[in-house]
Order: sequence, then structure tokens, then C-alpha cells
Amino acid sequence: MKNVAIIGTGTMGPGMAATLARGGMDVACYDTSEAAREKVPGEVATALAVLERIGGRAASSAGAVSVRADLADAVADADLVIEAVPEDPQTKSVVFRELDRLSKPDAILASNTSGIPITTLQEPVRDPRRVVGMHWSNPPHVIPVIEVIAGEKTSPEVVERLSRLVGDLGLMPVRVLRDVPGFVENRVLYAIMRECLSLVDKGVISAEELDTCVQWGIGFKLAVIPPMQLLDVAGLDIYNAVASYLNGDLDGRSDVSRTITSRVDRGDLGMKTGKGLFDYTPERAAELRKERAGKLVAVRRAISQD
Ligand code: NAD
Repeated sequence: MKNVAIIGTGTMGPGMAATLARGGMDVACYDTSEAAREKVPGEVATALAVLERIGGRAASSAGAVSVRADLADAVADADLVIEAVPEDPQTKSVVFRELDRLSKPDAILASNTSGIPITTLQEPVRDPRRVVGMHWSNPPHVIPVIEVIAGEKTSPEVVERLSRLVGDLGLMPVRVLRDVPGFVENRVLYAIMRECLSLVDKGVISAEELDTCVQWGIGFKLAVIPPMQLLDVAGLDIYNAVASYLNGDLDGRSDVSRTITSRVDRGDLGMKTGKGLFDYTPERAAELRKERAGKLVAVRRAISQD
């Protein structure tokens, strides 16, 4: 696979394009919005600079990133098309119908959806075996894991080819073998979020100290010793004894905590509106974004050097 097309260059597209170009692939970017297209070169350059700081594998000659104003032109030569348009099933279905018509018949059609079933996106495509999930995390040029998700009709060969490509880029493919809602990463994250909100809602701990506990008591440890290995480190007898009384006491609600819904109703959406669970001035939000981007790079570098 040498030629890639990225459809949708909002938050995710440019970082994905930079990662693929550094890996030696030629990337054609398309977006319906002219403003989004105009931002691509600058954002790709910024992401490439971050990738340079992270180090790791780079192709001997980097690929080129081009911006196209026409979808047919963007996908004409693509061996792999990655759809990254907004998380709306209808919008994505229309895009997949177009990709079915315009792409090479053997091109892999991948979606970066965070949770729309891949099986749904296979419906508008005549050969659904070539449709697959390729779920990058944000920021896509920093987080090394990519979920490769098989829809009901995805060919196992497509899953393998895409996983191999991700591995060749020096990233970590994880194959999600069944098309479950939220795939794996978001299921685990949302299980953590539900319990965190429950503990704060019940007054067990403050929001600030909950964050300290999870970041330094759990997150820091999990970055080095992941869950399945941690079970063996702790001892399965210990897990068995604790889980026997604790599992039944963990939060099992299927609706969303009022802590979230009440703020959403008021328009307090977090950093982007200046107020969420915490308050932010625009300057503080910018400072935090910069500081966190730097820390993510530092942690990635530290762990890769193992
Ligand atoms: P975004 O809204 O920032 O960008 C989407 C872009 O798609 C916009 O620039 C828009 O102009 C463009 N677009 C809309 N309709 C289009 C069409 N028909 N053809 C081409 N371009 C079109 O969205 P995002 O945050 O980059 O998310 C894209 C996808 O990636 C979503 O499915 C999202 O769930 C997923 N995702 C997002 C994140 C994240 O943190 N933002 C993380 C992982 C996965």
C-alpha cells in the first residue's frame, strides 16, 4: 500500500496524514470545507514536528501530503481510504456510498468512527469485505495504538493487511474481532468514567482527589503494567477474593450521571466553553493543552525506550 486518501480533515485527519507520510506513504486529503482544507498544510507540519520529537520509525523517504478539492481526485489512486468525517451515521453512509463508486475496487475502505458499527457502514458498499474500522486515538500522531475492527462482513485478509500496515508504521495494531459498540478502547474508558463519576456523585471523594488517585494510583501503573499482566502480578487469588465482594457494588447504571447531563443542558461543555467539571480561562485552557501535549510526548518517549 503506497497511496492513502483521508476523507475529512478536522481534528483527526491532519495528524493521521502526518503519521502516514512519515511512514513513506503518499496521502491525498479531502474535505468538503475549504477552511478545513486550507488548514491542512500547517497542521500536518506541526504534527510532523511532534513526530520528529517522538522519534521512532520513519521511512527513508517521507511521503507527500496533498490537498484535493474533489473527492474523485483524492481517492482515484488510493490503496487505502480512511474516512474521518463527523460521527453521524447518515453522513458516513453517504460518504461510503460515494467511496464505493469512486475508489479502486480493491482499495481498503476504513472508517475512523469512534463507535458506529462497522457493519452499518458496510451496507452501502457493494463489496463489504473491504470495509473495516481503523480507530485512531486523539492526538492521532502521538497515541501509538490503532484499533482495527472487523465488521460482520469484513474479510480477515483486509484486517491482516491493515494491521500489518499499522505495524510497519511502528504503531501498535489491536484487532477487534467482533463489532461491539464502542469497540474496546472506549468500552474500557467509559467503564472507568462511569465509576469515577459515581464515586464523586456519592461524595466518596472530591473531583480533584479522584483525578490524583486515578492518574497516579492507576493510570501511571497501567502505562507500565497493563491489566491482564497486572492480574498475574497482583495474584489471581487476590483478584478473585476482592472481585467476589466488589463487582456487585460497582456502579452499573445504564443512563448518564446528572453531573454530566445537567452541565450539558446548561452548555457547560468543558474546556471548549470555559466551564465543565472545572473552570478555564482561554489562557489557562491554551496553557493546559500545550503542557499536556508536551507530557504525552515525554511519556511516549520514556515508555518506548524500555
Ligand atoms: P471534525 O468534526 O473535527 O472533522 C470532520 C471533518 O469532516 C470536518 O472538517 C468537516 O468539514 C468534514 N466533512 C464533513 N462532511 C464531509 C464529507 N461528506 N466529506 C468530506 N469531509 C466532510 O471530526 P473529528 O473529531 O476529526 O472526527 C472524525 C471522526 O474520527 C469521527 O468519526 C470521530 O468519532 C472519530 N474520532 C474522533 C476523535 C477525537 O477525539 N476527535 C478520536 C477518535 C476518533
